[in-house]
Amino acid sequence: MTMSAWQRPWCGSLRREDLGRNVELVGWVRRSRDLGGLVFADLRDRSGLVQLVFESEMLAAGEGLSQQDVILVRGTVRERAEGQANPDLPTGEVEVRVTEMELLSHAETPPFLVEDDTNASEELRLEYRYLDLRRPVMLENLMLRHRVVAETRRYFDEMEFVEVETPILTRSTPEGARDFLVPSRIHKGSFYALPQSPQLFKQLLQVAGLGRYVQIARCFRDEDLRADRQPEFTQVDVEASFVTEEDIFVLIEGLFARVFPLVGIEPPETFPRMAYAEAMERFGSDRPDTRFGLELVELAPLCEGCGFRVLESAAAEGRVKGLVLPGGAGLSRRELDALTEFVKPYGAAGVLWFKRSAEGVASPAKKALGEEGVLRFLEAAGAGEGDLLLVVGGPRKVVLAALGALRLHLAAERGLVPEDRHDFLWVTDFPLLEWSEEDGRFYAMHHPFTAPRPEDVEKLGSDPGAVRARAYDVVMDGVELGGGSIRIHDPEVQRRMFATLGIGEEEARARFGFLLEAFRYGVPPHGGIALGLDRMVMLMAGRDSIRDVIAFPKTTSASCLLTGAPSGVDPAQLEELGLKPSE
Ligand code: ASP
Repeated sequence: MTMSAWQRPWCGSLRREDLGRNVELVGWVRRSRDLGGLVFADLRDRSGLVQLVFESEMLAAGEGLSQQDVILVRGTVRERAEGQANPDLPTGEVEVRVTEMELLSHAETPPFLVEDDTNASEELRLEYRYLDLRRPVMLENLMLRHRVVAETRRYFDEMEFVEVETPILTRSTPEGARDFLVPSRIHKGSFYALPQSPQLFKQLLQVAGLGRYVQIARCFRDEDLRADRQPEFTQVDVEASFVTEEDIFVLIEGLFARVFPLVGIEPPETFPRMAYAEAMERFGSDRPDTRFGLELVELAPLCEGCGFRVLESAAAEGRVKGLVLPGGAGLSRRELDALTEFVKPYGAAGVLWFKRSAEGVASPAKKALGEEGVLRFLEAAGAGEGDLLLVVGGPRKVVLAALGALRLHLAAERGLVPEDRHDFLWVTDFPLLEWSEEDGRFYAMHHPFTAPRPEDVEKLGSDPGAVRARAYDVVMDGVELGGGSIRIHDPEVQRRMFATLGIGEEEARARFGFLLEAFRYGVPPHGGIALGLDRMVMLMAGRDSIRDVIAFPKTTSASCLLTGAPSGVDPAQLEELGLKPSE
């Protein structure tokens, strides 16, 4: 008798309570062991595995099995023989004596071992992604992702949010990345852009009166990829009317309190907050990892007239900061040189070191500063015996970036990051605008719809760099999980914002006219946030690449090794679109 698929037990679900039960199971053969007169095979599905026994009249069927064959078996659950129980396996006390078997599909030898501990390169895993996903650890990642999404939807539903889908074929949305463009066949020479985020639509939904919007939304950004970036990624996108920053904080803290316990992480009821300026000065980052010390210390006041030219001029023209590595005085010359190499890509000339040990102090600056002078720096930085002080001087941006990166590098290298601790943090008071030396103009730090703090609006004309935004980021363990803001809803402020960004009336009308027009017909004050779902699940799964929690990701060079996308197209298709093949 065949069982309904929905009543069939999962392989990994069988326990001692099931002893004597007749069951029908389906799954993949993990491996079989032929003991002569008896064959053991593990049958696996996404829930785990159970041991099958083939003996007597079923022996031949068991002997013919290959790894990854798909089979259906019927049999009886029985206790494993004396001493054969496997305490590491949830099904380890039982086995299924097979009485009937059907080979549903034979599997050829897979190109790599379909086990958690595989020997395959990531390229091979991506090419045969379905086999890679069949590995238990990967199936678990997908199932965790599903649970996070399901809980997120439940939470927002309880909070009376409405999920609305927004267009994928749309106009450019300014999130600061390059757009993916889709040529229009009907309107030759015109293009749709894929949304970098649903930003403008979620604001329009507030004008429409929806009040509380959420969407598990796919976003597309054509930018250079890293371990935590993909050309398409998923956001938990949120927007609500008549809210303040505090309302958004409470909403997201409530969400995290529901989602993170799925993996045993209990976030605090309310998250600490840190202003952007403080995060930059103390940690050299706007997404500080606060789980360990190594905080940046200010050394400029010591540099003036100190006698060491390099420090004197760095302090006069820029900044001088340092960090103390406890117990670092033992670092070798080679290790110290490597730190200088490490900071160079951040634009820093090098790292100046100061050591304090039982034998006294040491530093390349000792000749110029004298023993006293070196000690003054060590004291000011709080370096004790056995400690190492590392100093970087130069332009503010360079010093903060170099030390911020050095701090993370040293903590990782020396095992200073506590594995079982998780820190959640709101970073607030971001600057509204960011000056680009390269382009000689301001850019919106977040996006151009972010509201300035009301008390700073006047500075939009006089001192744009000093205007603070009503923007916030939520950070976990040094990873930015999401960001958002209270939006501009006053057309006049929006106009001034565009003007500061060098977007004239005409350009504003051409690009965002539909939003400005909407704001004329009754716009509620509103704000929101977007969370990076991939990053969130990555942290929850304890992985360090978002590729591990995306079913079909792209490589760092933005290609899909499974399907071969992107690929060339038929010249006829190009012609239909009014495009010419490139030479
Ligand atoms: N649209 C923004 C982003 O994708 C998030 C927000 O402001 O709500 O970063």
